[in-house]
Amino acid sequence: MEPAMNDGFEFAEIGRATVRDPDFVKRLQSGEIAESDCDHCRRCIAAMDAGGAHCVCDEMEPITK
Ligand code: SF4
Repeated sequence: MEPAMNDGFEFAEIGRATVRDPDFVKRLQSGEIAESDCDHCRRCIAAMDAGGAHCVCDEMEPITK
């Protein structure tokens, strides 16, 4: 995000990373993680009508880094 901000972008959107891990920003700021393990599969988008916004990947298959 920092390079994008330095290039003139006024904000960076963090959506699915926080759907995947609601503590994503806190863990990123603390240095615990350097990136999200969201694989951008978008299956959470398809599941929103059925159960709200949450990552469905752990219900289907584990995500590995
Ligand atoms: S369902 Fe896929 S896109 Fe959505 S948060 Fe989980 S890993 Fe990311």
